[in-house]
Amino acid sequence: MSSQGHRIVIVGDSIAGCTAAREVRARGHDGPLTMIGADADGCYAKPPLSKHVLKGEAAEAQTWDLSDLDITSIVDRATTVDTGRRIVTTVDGTDVPYDALIVATGASARRIAGPDRAGETVLRTFADVRALRSKLDEARTAVIVGAGFLGMEIASACASRGIAVTVVDVDPPLKRLLGPFLSDAILARAASASVEFVKADKPVSLTGDPVVGIEVADRVLTADLVVTCAGDVPETSWLDGTGIADGHGVGIDEHCATTVPEVFAAGDVAYSRGTSSRAPFWSNAVAQGKVAAASALGLEPTCAPADDYFWTEILGLSIKVVGPLPLQGDPTVLEGSVEDGSALLQWSHEDGRITIVAFGIKKPVGLLRRLARERAVPTT
Ligand SMILES: Cc1cc2nc3c(=O)[nH]c(=O)nc-3n(C[C@H](O)[C@H](O)[C@H](O)COP(=O)(O)OP(=O)(O)OC[C@H]3O[C@@H](n4cnc5c(N)ncnc54)[C@H](O)[C@@H]3O)c2cc1C
Repeated sequence: MSSQGHRIVIVGDSIAGCTAAREVRARGHDGPLTMIGADADGCYAKPPLSKHVLKGEAAEAQTWDLSDLDITSIVDRATTVDTGRRIVTTVDGTDVPYDALIVATGASARRIAGPDRAGETVLRTFADVRALRSKLDEARTAVIVGAGFLGMEIASACASRGIAVTVVDVDPPLKRLLGPFLSDAILARAASASVEFVKADKPVSLTGDPVVGIEVADRVLTADLVVTCAGDVPETSWLDGTGIADGHGVGIDEHCATTVPEVFAAGDVAYSRGTSSRAPFWSNAVAQGKVAAASALGLEPTCAPADDYFWTEILGLSIKVVGPLPLQGDPTVLEGSVEDGSALLQWSHEDGRITIVAFGIKKPVGLLRRLARERAVPTT
């Protein structure tokens, strides 16, 4: 495909943006391609940050080399878009005109304290990990607010370093995502690794300035380190007033198109206008990056804008999930046993779809995908 005059601009240089860039070239676009990214550490994968990089098993983030793609790379923050004139502007005042724009600015960590309060630690970027790693070197006690996958991964890193760690949440670990059955199994594993879990009856508040602890029910828990893992917020402030984003993020359809002509979006910044939901996971960012790239070129996408594969690693246990979430009720055990920390599990959903979980058992993702597909009950 020759597309000399068609200027594609991608804002955001993480997995959604980089996947889109690679797909733009793979689909034959030989015209101008510009990527604007605000992270001084460049393009890197976030999932290893809270696993191997935080534990010290890997010193550096896993970066990507896009030098073969002939990209004009701008390391700066986009501040606004003029959707009429089709121009993105960056902090230093550079105007970048586009014919098609892909928004891939992801999300930032949700904070509990106000912006003026010092000492609240979060983990989203490689810079955050470097700061947290050096705090872990000094800490003997830690409190983690939030028992989602990120909070439990950070708790695992603390436990592996011998730090006494308490995790606090209104729900048991990963219950909102993985349901009560797996949550109970993770809770049991946490207890055996001396990771304490405290169930809050309402959202906790942070104490001290700088932050030194949390208030939960009538207790105050203090620790050398307090880490907030309370979810993420779509990075849309640069789109204020453009009509591209709303309070949920950037709404997209099955072509990753926004409601603004020639503007597409992918990854954690996006939510499906069909379901009004965000699924801020790696595999979705990859799938949407590919779809947004094809749509920006006026081509048919080669995949769906969603991929329901998710994984995490908690207390030495790898958990891989293929299929719809959240999970309810008890699974069928296909292999092994959850008590032994090695099991292949199946959940059947009312609509005939299947979720397969490899819980601490080594199974290739391809096999999990095949099982989920083959075991689904067709609905006519
Ligand atoms: C520590 C951590 C561990 C994770 N582990 C897992 C896991 O095990 N499994 C899983 O499925 N998912 C995991 N995730 C989620 C997964 O990493 C995200 O879904 C994925 O990174 C989303 O990619 P993205 O490109 O949409 O956004 P992001 O990764 O958030 O990247 C957005 C990029 O846009 C840039 N940007 C933002 N605003 C601007 C602007 N105005 N101008 C220019 N650039 C801008 C940012 O600097 C950033 O580089 C993890 C996330 C984190 C943070």
